[in-house]
Amino acid sequence: MSGKRSILIPEYMQTFACIGGDCEDTCCSAFQIDLDKRTFDLYKKIEDPDLRFIISRSVKQFTDIQTDNKYAFIEKQSDNRCAFLTSENLCKMQQLKGTDALGLICHTYPRLVNVVDGTPEQSASISCPEVARLALLNKEGIRFVETEIDADERHNYGFDIDTSKKSSAFWEVRLFSLNTLQDRQYTVVERLLILAMYFQKADETVQAGQADSIPSLTEKYDHLCQTGAFQSLVQKLPINLEWKYSLLAKLLLGRENFPIANQRFHERFYKAIDALGLNGHSYESQPYITELTKWETIFTEKYEYIFENYLVNQAFRTLFPFRGYSNFSEEFMMLAIHYAAIRLLATGVACTAPNQFDEHELLSCMQSYSKEIDHHAVYLKYMFDTLKLNDCTSTAKLSAILKGI
Ligand code: SF4
Repeated sequence: MSGKRSILIPEYMQTFACIGGDCEDTCCSAFQIDLDKRTFDLYKKIEDPDLRFIISRSVKQFTDIQTDNKYAFIEKQSDNRCAFLTSENLCKMQQLKGTDALGLICHTYPRLVNVVDGTPEQSASISCPEVARLALLNKEGIRFVETEIDADERHNYGFDIDTSKKSSAFWEVRLFSLNTLQDRQYTVVERLLILAMYFQKADETVQAGQADSIPSLTEKYDHLCQTGAFQSLVQKLPINLEWKYSLLAKLLLGRENFPIANQRFHERFYKAIDALGLNGHSYESQPYITELTKWETIFTEKYEYIFENYLVNQAFRTLFPFRGYSNFSEEFMMLAIHYAAIRLLATGVACTAPNQFDEHELLSCMQSYSKEIDHHAVYLKYMFDTLKLNDCTSTAKLSAILKGI
């Protein structure tokens, strides 16, 4: 008999439902879809001739590393779509055999469950356009609620951590991070720079063998945050637009070294590259800086809540700052760079059609970026290595990356 279990979720997931054939960027295209062993075994027994034909042609076992969750995959067709996807953008397997016949990834996407000290937390990826709308367009910000689910429901598990092995101050650090990202007395850039300073200090504290002082350090920063004391400190941090745009240009152009599968991202990526003059060998940022600062101002004035929601969703989903990089500053650097790269991408797209740029276009930039970048381990490593080479864990460099105006 199936019971219930508690789970922490972002409030917007209470209303999420896949929109199926109406989806403008279905998850059944661009991604390689992995199959778990249970589903692979089930497919071997299917007798329906249409499904049998697709299975024999497109379902392949991994030949290198094979695990129960990553046992086989559905080979994409030449148009990048899943072989089971019909012309109405519906799944033929689901139509004929029901949801139980879906592989774990298809059944659970865009949800991911992390387990913290035995307690499950369900998050969702904004690579799904419907999640992006629900998560990012909420002007009130993302709230979290506890709810109940069937105990035997299938989940795609991400992290499973024992906080005592990570840090004795896991909850203090995690909650301070999420609260600061939502602290609206500061701009989003100010919030990020407060975190940059805090994580630098926290790393120094750990390196000095005083990890036990992290809770008191966090309390101090929390108190200073509430008094508004950081505004003047953040103002003094450096701006370096030339350096910022050449670093971001290098990172963005690095994505060209790998095939771009998602059409929405492909279109926006090349629009941005052309509009920002990033396509020549002699990259010049100066002619574009006026345009870039203009859009930075518009983003801050009109779309601040969308960027906040992006950061909060990303931080919750990745257990920030405990994803697994070697220190807090590296964790922060990777969160900050996605924020900055999305702003540059959106700026480029906005420059090509300023009158048509609105929150929906910004959402498309974020959603397609997430779909193409968040799961691309090789490109993420390229980003990380490039940033480390440029010493981007320091507060001064992070300030140069984040400050635009
Ligand atoms: S991307 Fe989201 S809304 Fe679109 S088909 Fe997949 S789960 Fe459904």
